[in-house]
Amino acid sequence: MAELRHRLVLASNNAKKLKELGALLAPVSVELVTQGALGIPEAEEPHHTFIENALAKARHAAAASGLPAISDDSGLCVDALGGAPGVQSAVYAEVAFPDGIDREARRALQDEANNRKLLAALATAAGNGVATRRARFVCALVAVRSAEDPEPLIAFGRWEGEILAERRGTGGFGYDPLMFVPAQGLTAAEMPSAVKNARSHRALACAQMLTLMREVWQLG
Ligand code: IMP
Repeated sequence: MAELRHRLVLASNNAKKLKELGALLAPVSVELVTQGALGIPEAEEPHHTFIENALAKARHAAAASGLPAISDDSGLCVDALGGAPGVQSAVYAEVAFPDGIDREARRALQDEANNRKLLAALATAAGNGVATRRARFVCALVAVRSAEDPEPLIAFGRWEGEILAERRGTGGFGYDPLMFVPAQGLTAAEMPSAVKNARSHRALACAQMLTLMREVWQLG
C-alpha cells in the first residue's frame, strides 16, 4: 500500500527553504508544497518578534489553502544593539538597486550593505562604551493544523557567537562572514556547509519541530 503523506504548505516561495525543510521533514510522513505553487501571495510580516511573524505567515498560508502550514522566520540579534537587526535582518541597510539587477546580485549587494551597517553600528556602540560583541542567529519555526489552530507547534533555535571587526570566509550567506562561533573557532562563512547545517539555529529549530510533529501530531 502507498505510504500516506500529509500535505503541508510552506509559507514561503524560497526554493532553498523548500529543499532544506523538505529534507528535514522527510523522516515524518509530510509532503511540502510552497504557497507560491498554490497561487498564495506572501503574508505581511509586521511584528517585532520572529515567533509572531512566523505564526502570522503560517496562519495566512493555512487560511488561504485550507491545509496545515509551516513557516520560518530567522535573523541575527546583537546584544550591544538591543537585539537589532532582529526581524529586520534581511533588509537592515537601505540599498538603492540598479535597474535590471537579478535576484542573486541583489542579495549580494543587500548582504554587503547589511554587514557594513552592522560593523558601523558596533563601532558606534563601542564608542559609547558598549563593547560586547555577543550575538546569536535565531530561527523560529511554526506549524499549524488550520488557520484557527489554538495549539501551534513552536520550535526555536539559537546559535551563539561574536561579531568580528572584519569579514572572514566565503561560504554561507547573510551575516555569516562576521559571525564567529567560538565552539568551532570559525566564522559561519568559514565552516563546511555540513558543519553549519548540523549546528545552526535552523538545524536546532528543525530538530525540535520534528520531535513536536512526532509527539503532538503523531506523525511517524
Ligand atoms: P529569512 O528568515 O530567510 O528571511 O532570513 C532573514 C535574514 O536573516 C537573512 O536575509 C539574513 O540576513 C539573516 N540570516 C538568517 N539566517 C542566517 C544564517 O544562517 N546566516 C547568515 N545570515 C542569516
